[in-house]
Amino acid sequence: MSKEIIDETLAIARDIENQLKFYGEMGLEDIGGGSALATESAPTADSTDSVSAGLESAGALGAAQAPQAEPRVRDEEPAAQRTSQIGQAGLFGESVAAGQRGNSHRGGAALPVIDSRDPSLEAIREDIGDCLRCKLHEHRKTIVFGEGNPQARLVFVGEGPGAEEDASGRPFVGRAGQLLGKIILAIGLKREDVYIANIVKCRPPGNRTPERDEVDTCEPFLLRQLAFIRPEVIVALGSPAFQCLLRTREPITRARGEWREWNGIKVMPTFHPAFLLRSPDKKREVWEDMKKVRDYLNTKPI
Ligand code: SF4
Repeated sequence: MSKEIIDETLAIARDIENQLKFYGEMGLEDIGGGSALATESAPTADSTDSVSAGLESAGALGAAQAPQAEPRVRDEEPAAQRTSQIGQAGLFGESVAAGQRGNSHRGGAALPVIDSRDPSLEAIREDIGDCLRCKLHEHRKTIVFGEGNPQARLVFVGEGPGAEEDASGRPFVGRAGQLLGKIILAIGLKREDVYIANIVKCRPPGNRTPERDEVDTCEPFLLRQLAFIRPEVIVALGSPAFQCLLRTREPITRARGEWREWNGIKVMPTFHPAFLLRSPDKKREVWEDMKKVRDYLNTKPI
């Protein structure tokens, strides 16, 4: 057997090992057909996912929800209180002609151009202050600014704080946040290596989708954070984050796994961890997406 074949076989074996580790860390015990390389459409019962099962038994996730539905959920989001404005039109739906897909490179609305003039992330936080700029301030407990490495190569962007984030002032600390932590570990990083933020910094009441005026008011702070950090990769978690950043109405189900670009920064759209809690079979797709992120960062040494 030639060295090339041996090397290729070893690489495949390593990939399978990593994939199994990823599934294991995310609590996915039944990977369908007994193979880590089972087809993505192979069904995996929610009951095999301990986190998801725990959530459902606690009533936090509606058992009647269709796993294939538009995945726009936030951490710990009560199903009964969700609205689906994003799924119907997209945050920027009205700025994109009917039938158009994708970001500005694909004929969508123009992307905001970012140019950092901030001396630090702390300066941006100070600028936010005890913010009353939009109506989301009325019910929030805490402003969830974002946290992590100010020089991160990788930034995760979600939709908005959930209940636990609102209480703690930290992004992604609930069950979905724990899952995000496992995803970060699975690609060889630690939470403190990356930066994590949301489009809006105050929890929308009842965990509803942030409204257009709220996004318009709060998003500039996220853009300033991104401009300051200037990461190499942004992972957009879920439709709202993806649609907001890329000014598109394209659903995450279609966009995920495809590299996009935003101000010279690579963007990887993928499912929100909260969606994975109720659709654990989608973890395979997230793993595929995150492997692309990992490989891209590995091919670009610091
Ligand atoms: S969501 Fe953003 S703009 Fe609105 S009150 Fe909170 S910090 Fe201010």
